[in-house]
Amino acid sequence: MSEDVERESMEYDVVIVGGGPAGLSAAIRLKQLAAEAGAELNVAVLEKGSEIGAHILSGAVIDPIAMNELIPDWKDQGAPLETPVKKDRFIYLGPQGELDITWLPMPKFMMNHGNYIASLANVCRWLGQQAEALGVEIYPGMAASEVLFDENGAVRGVVAGVFGIDKDGAKGADYQPGVELLAKYTFIGEGVRGSLAKQLIAKFGLSEGKQPQKFGIGLKELWQVPDEKFQPGLVRSEERRVGNECRSRWSPYH
Ligand SMILES: Cc1cc2nc3c(=O)[nH]c(=O)nc-3n(C[C@H](O)[C@H](O)[C@H](O)COP(=O)(O)OP(=O)(O)OC[C@H]3O[C@@H](n4cnc5c(N)ncnc54)[C@H](O)[C@@H]3O)c2cc1C
Repeated sequence: MSEDVERESMEYDVVIVGGGPAGLSAAIRLKQLAAEAGAELNVAVLEKGSEIGAHILSGAVIDPIAMNELIPDWKDQGAPLETPVKKDRFIYLGPQGELDITWLPMPKFMMNHGNYIASLANVCRWLGQQAEALGVEIYPGMAASEVLFDENGAVRGVVAGVFGIDKDGAKGADYQPGVELLAKYTFIGEGVRGSLAKQLIAKFGLSEGKQPQKFGIGLKELWQVPDEKFQPGLVRSEERRVGNECRSRWSPYH
C-alpha cells in the first residue's frame, strides 16, 4: 500500500472497476434509474484495456435475456447481435471419426434456440457507446490497482493509473502515482480472478463458508471456414473422451 504517496483525487457517486458486460450494464442501469428518478448521478467506469472490448476475448453465443431487459429496443439501436442461432449440432468424436448425435434429447441449457452468435468484444464496445450516451465517464487504459478504505474500514474508492512500477515492485524512472477515484459506491466488475476482488474477498472474509471457486481452462480459436462449408447460425458442439476426461469444443458460425 502506498498511503504516503501524494495523489490527485476525483469524486463520483459510483466508480465501476471493469468495462466488461457486468460493469457496463451496471453503469447503464444506474443511469437509467437516476434518469427515472430525476436525479443526478456521476458514474465512472475504469477499464485497464486500451479501449472497451480490448480485453474481451471470449463469448460467442449470447443469450439476449439480459439485453432485452436492459435495452429493450437493442435491435433498433444497432446492437451487434446479428446472427440468430438457427441450428445446433452435437458431434461425438472417436477414433473411427465423428458420430452425429443431434437426434439425442439434450438438456435445455445446451440448446441455443433464441440465442445469437456474436463477438462479446463488439457487444461491449456497443454497450460502452450506450453508457457514454447516458453520460457515463469511461476511462480506458486505467487499471485500478488498490482499494482505498476509510477510517471505519469501508471501501471509499480505488487508486488507478499507476505506471512505472518495475517487476520487483520498485518505482522506476517513469513512475506515475495515478489518481484516487473516490465514490459513495465502488462496484468491482473485474471478471474472474480480479486482483481487487481477491483483496476484498480476503479482507471481508467473503469466501468463508462458501464453496471454493472452480476454474476450467478455456481456449478460443478463430477459424476461417471455406464459403461452401459456412452455415451462418450453426452451433456445432463436439465431445471427445480422452481417458477419464471429457473434452468439448463449441464452434459457432458467425
Ligand atoms: C473461453 C471462454 C468462452 C466463453 N464463451 C461464452 C459464450 O459463448 N457466451 C457467453 O455468454 N459467455 C461466454 N463466456 C463467459 C463470458 O466471457 C463472461 O461471463 C463475461 O465476460 C463476464 O463478464 P464480466 O463483465 O463479469 O467480466 P469480463 O468480461 O472479464 O470483464 C472484466 C473487464 O474488467 C477489466 N478489468 C479487470 N480488472 C481490472 C482492473 N483492476 N482495473 C480496470 N479494469 C479491469 C478487464 O480488462 C475486462 O475488460 C466465455 C468465457 C470464456 C473464458
